[in-house]
Amino acid sequence: MKKKLIDGKTTSNKIKKRIAKEVAKIIDNDEKAPHLAAVLVGGDPASEFYVKSKEKACKSVGITSSVYRHSEKTTEANLLEIIDFMNNDPEIDGFIVQLPLPKHIDVDRIINRINPAKDVDGFHPMNIGKMVIGAPTYLPATPAGIMMMIKEYKIETAGKNIVVLGRSNIVGTPISIMLSRKANPGNATVTLCHSRTQNLEEITKQADIIIAAIGQAEFVKADMVKKGVVIIDVGIHRVEDKTKEKGYRITGDVAFDEVSKKASLITPVPGGVGLMTIAALLENTLKAAKKEVYR
Ligand code: NDP
Repeated sequence: MKKKLIDGKTTSNKIKKRIAKEVAKIIDNDEKAPHLAAVLVGGDPASEFYVKSKEKACKSVGITSSVYRHSEKTTEANLLEIIDFMNNDPEIDGFIVQLPLPKHIDVDRIINRINPAKDVDGFHPMNIGKMVIGAPTYLPATPAGIMMMIKEYKIETAGKNIVVLGRSNIVGTPISIMLSRKANPGNATVTLCHSRTQNLEEITKQADIIIAAIGQAEFVKADMVKKGVVIIDVGIHRVEDKTKEKGYRITGDVAFDEVSKKASLITPVPGGVGLMTIAALLENTLKAAKKEVYR
């Protein structure tokens, strides 16, 4: 079967172009540019990389960005104060707290403190609840980015068997809800799998579409999927590879080389979902600046 790539670069650039136009209109109206702030605690290299990518993306569309860096030793009380400051700063339209946080900080307490109107990551329970009932909200960025890809590539989801691998609050659970809703894209029969799922291969072999978000490098193999399957690979891993100059390569949760031979459509890693996640975050920031969700 001839594989076709779902190109995150072209798709995210298209979305960013539209956002840039809207931002330019705002500025032409003598209003301030939308402003996305990020809080980064500690020096985790992956988090640094994500925050830098977000800053770069903001710049490319005219959104103002600022990063508040804090040491690994920042206390929970301190972080809550920083969040209160951001909640009350009229200059900031939306902000994110880059995860993961150090172990001594209770992530739920932090997320609960974010003003839902500025929660452009869409992680606050209020926004999750709105997503569940299909009300206007900030959709969590990665699932929102996947939905944008599905729309862009006109991938039919109605009546399809979709298998989601992984049930995290930020990817697996929300995408399974979005795709099972009475909407387009949506209307799918979704099976949500996790580490306690039995006979996983039997389930994945029935899938018309697989969304892999389990956090294990190249876990999904060719013998786990049927011919013609659509694969959306959320995973991002750096694995040792002595054949590469850098000594490593970036890969996903899917063994791309073998699975792509059976898939009708597949996202590459890098160049797939990761870029869409950032585009969706920019979209949420624009929504926040335009007060589309909370007035
Ligand atoms: P989590 O680690 O939070 O969750 C992993 C999920 O996979 C859990 O539900 C776990 O089950 C399940 N799981 C683990 N092992 C298996 C297994 N062998 N069989 C079936 N299910 C299994 O992951 P995230 O959702 O945060 O991230 C997933 C991947 O996506 C990571 O590689 C991450 O780096 C990447 N990512 C990429 C983003 C992007 O923009 N491209 C954004 C966010 C994440 P259980 O619940 O039972 O423990």
